Amino acid sequence: MDQVQQLRPHVLIFPFPAQGHVNSMLKLAELLCLAGINITFLVSNNIHNRLLRHTNVVSRFRKYPGFHLDHYPDAYDESKVHIAQEITDLCTALQSVVKPFLKELLSKDPAHGTRKDRPPFSCIIVDGFLSLALDVAEEIGLPLICFRTISAGAFWTYFCIPRLVEAGELPFPGDEMNLPIENVKGMEGFLRRCDLPSFFRVGDLTNPDFNLLLKEALQTPRAKGLILNTFEDLEGCILSHFRTHCPNLYTIGPLHAHLRARLQLREANSNNSNSNSLWEEDKSCIKWLDNQPPKSVLYVSFGSISIITRETLLEFWHGIVNSGVRFLWVIRPNSVNVGLGDDVLDSTKSKSTPEVELEEATKERGCMVGWAPQEDVLAHPAIGGFLTHSGWNSTLESIAEGVPMICWPCFADQQPNSRFVGEVWKIGLDMKDTCDRVIVEKMVRDLMVERKDEFLHRADEMAKLARKSIEEGGSSFCNLVRLIDDIVKG
Ligand code: UDP
Repeated sequence: MDQVQQLRPHVLIFPFPAQGHVNSMLKLAELLCLAGINITFLVSNNIHNRLLRHTNVVSRFRKYPGFHLDHYPDAYDESKVHIAQEITDLCTALQSVVKPFLKELLSKDPAHGTRKDRPPFSCIIVDGFLSLALDVAEEIGLPLICFRTISAGAFWTYFCIPRLVEAGELPFPGDEMNLPIENVKGMEGFLRRCDLPSFFRVGDLTNPDFNLLLKEALQTPRAKGLILNTFEDLEGCILSHFRTHCPNLYTIGPLHAHLRARLQLREANSNNSNSNSLWEEDKSCIKWLDNQPPKSVLYVSFGSISIITRETLLEFWHGIVNSGVRFLWVIRPNSVNVGLGDDVLDSTKSKSTPEVELEEATKERGCMVGWAPQEDVLAHPAIGGFLTHSGWNSTLESIAEGVPMICWPCFADQQPNSRFVGEVWKIGLDMKDTCDRVIVEKMVRDLMVERKDEFLHRADEMAKLARKSIEEGGSSFCNLVRLIDDIVKG
């Protein structure tokens, strides 16, 4: 590292150990590297190994002399823990391993420098989940900025939970989930019980996940600022309420498109892959897409964490096949319960007649892979719709490419996200809490055939707004400039 680089700020970026979080925070890291800022990107040992195995992160970041990928010891066996179901245990394990690690990393010398080859740390950007870093930063006297990788809409509901409890809207029993929620400002009139993040749809306020997630969220105003992967034209009505709690908001999304645009400016015709996948991408599906007509294929993926039952998988499979629409489906290894997931694609096992028929139809007009290069898939001209679990990265990637969605949210922020897609932005259909082959078939036909033009038109309008936000002078562009300035000024 030369002397000029040594004089530049050094930011520690610390994501929660899961694909969606690592993905969006690595995009932010690269945007800051492009501005000349030194970055130490800190992940678990497991994620470190998977990034090295499946991505070109090391060669890709070689052009940034100030970038370092570091790792802390694994806090738990990531292959065994199901993040959504064991969130409290996972956070407790992280607290015990990461807190002392961070403390040591940040306080090795009085100027917060840890390594001779890097300048002292000047700031921490931490996933909002990890309030443990706030304690360490405050103790050491380093500025800390939070980054929440979920939508502003979803995160705003977290802030309104105390109000819902006060007003008697929470807790509620598991029935009558369509009743309206009145006390989330900006969402009156469309938010229902079933649209609250899964962790808050509780019948009992002593629920440990409920308490942990609420406690974590309410720490956010302690940070110097809050970065959100969203843009003003998408969530402006919610952001105005948000600013009353967290006035220093940096809305800089959609990050993947923002980074792509900056890289293209710097390296004209840059077509290099900037995948951050923790699984091996099966790029054969792009060749398959090349042979399909424009806007004819439904892309199906439920993200990196969701696990579905075999029954659910069969309902989706029947529904999609019966719709007659072409499809590209990601079935992650071990993502179908009771060990049957891999069987579905295993031609050596004996099958029932309906399953044989499903497989025949899949050979005719479908393609199944274990993990796809999703950003490239959604940007492909053959894609006409996305059946998604409504994870925030997937939602933004779809919005940026003007691809309408059918939403089948599983947990966390996915419930409010799908409501926004269906009811507020009207760029898709919300299939929340149902999974029935007849409904799947109807929704796929609605999105891809009957109401295709209407959805494509609205999705295209939203994609234009997304592009505008990251162009020079756009809201996300200006907010990124402000974030960089604030980091440089310290
Ligand atoms: N993804 C991918 N290939 C796949 C499925 C997902 O690259 O086959 C990526 C996707 O582009 C997104 C991330 O994995 O960036 C999933 O994040 P999201 O927030 O949508 O959902 P999560 O996995 O956190 O539930």
